[in-house]
Amino acid sequence: MPLLFGTAKFNEQEHLTIGGCDTVVLAEKYGTPLFVYDVAHVRERARGFKQTFNSLGVKNKVIYASKAFCCLAMYKLLEEEELGCDVVSGGELYTAIKGGMSPENIEFHGNNKTKEELSYAVDQNVGMIIIDNFYEIDLLSTILKEKGKQQKVMFRITPGVDAETHEYILTGQVDSKFGFDVMSGQATDALEKILADENLLLKGAHCHIGSQIFSAEGFLAAVEKMLLILNDWKKTFGYTVDILNMGGGFGVQYTEADDPLEPEAFVKAIVNGVKDQCELLDYAFPEIWIEPGRSIIAEAGTTIYSIGSQKVIPDVRHYVSVDGGMGDNIRPALYDAVYDGFLANRISTEATQESRIVGKYCESGDVLIKNIDLPPMNPEDLFAMTSTGAYGYSMANNYNRNLKPAVVFVENGQDKLAVRRETFEDLIALDCE
Ligand SMILES: *Cc1c(COP(=O)(O)O)cnc(C)c1O
Repeated sequence: MPLLFGTAKFNEQEHLTIGGCDTVVLAEKYGTPLFVYDVAHVRERARGFKQTFNSLGVKNKVIYASKAFCCLAMYKLLEEEELGCDVVSGGELYTAIKGGMSPENIEFHGNNKTKEELSYAVDQNVGMIIIDNFYEIDLLSTILKEKGKQQKVMFRITPGVDAETHEYILTGQVDSKFGFDVMSGQATDALEKILADENLLLKGAHCHIGSQIFSAEGFLAAVEKMLLILNDWKKTFGYTVDILNMGGGFGVQYTEADDPLEPEAFVKAIVNGVKDQCELLDYAFPEIWIEPGRSIIAEAGTTIYSIGSQKVIPDVRHYVSVDGGMGDNIRPALYDAVYDGFLANRISTEATQESRIVGKYCESGDVLIKNIDLPPMNPEDLFAMTSTGAYGYSMANNYNRNLKPAVVFVENGQDKLAVRRETFEDLIALDCE
């Protein structure tokens, strides 16, 4: 049996259903490729983080990382679940505000926020700006002085923790483009500069140690390092943080080989880690913020593709082409990401054929799944690729001028279009004659 997430199951007709909706019917109604999001699963994940903090009596903020997937409907869902969001560009900020996020619950991240973006964020009264570098301290300070405003800020620290994960998505180590490095003393210099600036209201420190992390160890190591430096700053400058933001990176299941902790377990580990360190150092227990992206949205998403051409090279390979590919999911091509899948319109009882699932883009690297055992297929079949909810649609592009897919939200037997499929007219909308 394939891995089924959330509400996904097969009905009597042997069709995959998600949120009580038949994916074969959805494919007919909206076309393929189609992203289907299991809203109940998103809610369950969101509550897993939020309620664990609350049950432990810890002041918290769970901030969804927009970059994993965002659209107006997603922000509406976040508001319903009382999550905040982070944004990393003017475009994400615009979408969040249009989607009804309250500005107070938005935090702004990024290693090269432009002057225009920072001004926009200040004008919109975003709740928090996470300062990433010295250039930004000056830029933001100048903007605030011009506007005669103050802004709540945190600053991002690279604590020098190597989370065991893929190199491309490693951001907590010293050699990183993100944040202020602790070892060289830059983080301390930044603290002094920010504290001395009356337009910047420093609320705390942030770190983000990586992505797709399966165990609590990396977070505990980061908590320990963060508290050590915070305690140094308390002694040297008499400065104590109100908020400790431990970032995101909580792992999810793409295939059976993946075995991440549950959201509840990550939260408990972090809270206990912070409590232990605070007691040890006699440091006031701060509010704890986290920024899960993937762990809220990845497993909730399934991409439905139609099967097209197949190429069988005797004794070499069986290629199965689908009607999408690296334009709607670039992760396999970009970082060798591994996915699983199965037929959506019939239960693949005997998986007889070792196949390679490829897309329709003009690149040999346009591979979605390198090796997967599937039954013999024909062009009436639908292929469901699972756990595609994070960094799939959000990284979608128009390579080869293929159209970006539609996105549909499903819950309790209801389907709702969240993002319509692109049209040829959309494709030339920006072109000037
Ligand atoms: C990407 C990112 C996140 C979310 O990471 P996930 O792996 O999707 O949980 C959170 N915080 C920051 C600063 C990030 O860059």
